[in-house]
Amino acid sequence: MEVPLENKPLDFIREIVAEDVKSGKHQGRVLTRFPPEPNGYLHIGHAKSICLNFGIAREYNGVCNLRMDDTNPAKEDVEYVDSITEDVKWLIGGWADHCLGMKEGAPFFASDYFGAIYAFAVTLIKKGKAYVCDLSPEDTEKFRGAPDKPGQDSPFRNRSIEENLKLFEQMEAGAFPDGARILRARIDMSSPNMWLRDPILYRIRHVDHHHTGNAWCIYPMYDFAHGLSDYLEGITHSICTLEFEVHRPLYDWILGELDLPNALPHQYEFARLNMTYTLMSKRKLLDLVETRAVVGWDDPRMPTVSGMRRRGYPAGAIREFCKRIGVGKVENVIDLALLEFCVREMLNKIAPRVMAVIKPLKVVIENYPEGQCEELDAVNNPEDPSAGTRRIPFGKVLYVEQDDFREIPSKDFFRLTPGREVRLRYAYFIKCESVIKDPVTGEVVELRCTYDSTTKGGNAPDGRKVKATIHWVSAEKAKEVTVRLYNKLFTTEDPQAVAEGEDHKKNLDPQSLVEITNVKAEPSLENASVGAVYQFERLGYFCVDKDSATGRKIFNRTVTLKDELAKIEKRANTPRK
Ligand code: ATP
Ligand code: MG
Repeated sequence: MEVPLENKPLDFIREIVAEDVKSGKHQGRVLTRFPPEPNGYLHIGHAKSICLNFGIAREYNGVCNLRMDDTNPAKEDVEYVDSITEDVKWLIGGWADHCLGMKEGAPFFASDYFGAIYAFAVTLIKKGKAYVCDLSPEDTEKFRGAPDKPGQDSPFRNRSIEENLKLFEQMEAGAFPDGARILRARIDMSSPNMWLRDPILYRIRHVDHHHTGNAWCIYPMYDFAHGLSDYLEGITHSICTLEFEVHRPLYDWILGELDLPNALPHQYEFARLNMTYTLMSKRKLLDLVETRAVVGWDDPRMPTVSGMRRRGYPAGAIREFCKRIGVGKVENVIDLALLEFCVREMLNKIAPRVMAVIKPLKVVIENYPEGQCEELDAVNNPEDPSAGTRRIPFGKVLYVEQDDFREIPSKDFFRLTPGREVRLRYAYFIKCESVIKDPVTGEVVELRCTYDSTTKGGNAPDGRKVKATIHWVSAEKAKEVTVRLYNKLFTTEDPQAVAEGEDHKKNLDPQSLVEITNVKAEPSLENASVGAVYQFERLGYFCVDKDSATGRKIFNRTVTLKDELAKIEKRANTPRK
């Protein structure tokens, strides 16, 4: 399934890496990192970054460190650390063997460097490059100026080194309340780059940290901790999304001012992933979870890695999607249909075929011997001969799909209708002789059919043809299962775009989950294990959900069989008759 390495197109980041390896920069070493903040579950946007960072490490015989960027304890949690670790391992799958950088089986943590980062801050203070500032948060903001207006020096900017050292020590010892003081870099309050206007390096937060407990009450800012963590791990290429481009001068300033003995990492930026019908922000996804708009982070409608796994998306299909969208410098919006296409394409190759009837209609075959049950051969996967065959039970009473029958057919309806013959997949030709209706509602509740015993396996010895093949299950042997049909979570193509003060939840589709309980499935599904994905013939791909209790399986529809995008485009391009 994976594309061979030598055929991989080089994106602009890979070109830089290839050049560096060739020129012997960093002694030819490649060490990247994926640095999520553990404040939520990973989403498909993170998958793009994971595939890029781990992919490069894998291609250049390097390593990619998984690092928790955990400098903001108030919003972080071990639940997120654990889910992120699990999701990354799942997503990179077989690659993990030679490119997943962990520390004794656990991810790296920026918070493990708090001691070293504190010492770097002291070094900056001693060099006169950082100072303790007592401005209130409001005044700090006011003094920063605006992009077209220079900022104003803080009255605390020229404190003596001794006083700064003493105050910073006291900050660390817990002498001051939250927000009372900050440590700032001393750069340039009139820089056109706002990030260089004496940015905050440390703030006071009297809150326990999920990884360091109560060891600290001051925490470094992302910008200060990030480059230093990269340096401490020996990262060669620090790859992030475009919004960090304006932070790069600060990244370089911090590393440059510290006179560090080892080679410095370099930051490169690429365009983040945006996708139609998809919210791409941990904060907004957390809101969906907290307000119970979805059942959890791993709700199969969520664009999270765990949601997609639960829905039945194979990791390889997500990697293929990330390969197809490529890596560039210009932001765009990718069609969700492309992700579904990749999922469908992969499942077509690997998913075993089974039969299940979602809206059952009873069929009685009048000329089939009472009490007889046959086992018929069915192909497990026509795309994969090595998947072999299985036996499916056939009997006098069956279920077919309500949608495969019309009492009064339209011109283009070729399936079951009174007087017409169709093929039952892997079984016989049957002909509908009459119908039985509910006396009250008038609804057709049963079809009376006959079968031709010479058509076993699906072909008539006399060569006569039928126009349709439909799926079915044996009524006697069928297992009842539940299926969950998912539609898009949002009705609008761009759910991120809501007016100021409006809630993105207003665009949720109330029909995004439809549960159907009395689905009849062939008995082989009884042993299906959680996470296994099947193609229900003619209906779509379905994955066993973790909510399946013994005796009652629940299947998530992973994706439909039809390429919706192709269908829509075709319809739009076909002139109406
Ligand atoms: P969110 O806004 O959803 O919280 P984030 O950028 O704050 O995302 P981080 O945990 O900081 O999340 O992200 C870890 C890495 O993933 C970063 O390097 C970031 O650039 C990258 N990343 C996040 N979102 C995307 C995206 N949509 N496309 C590509 N990379 C992304
Ligand atoms: Mg972030």
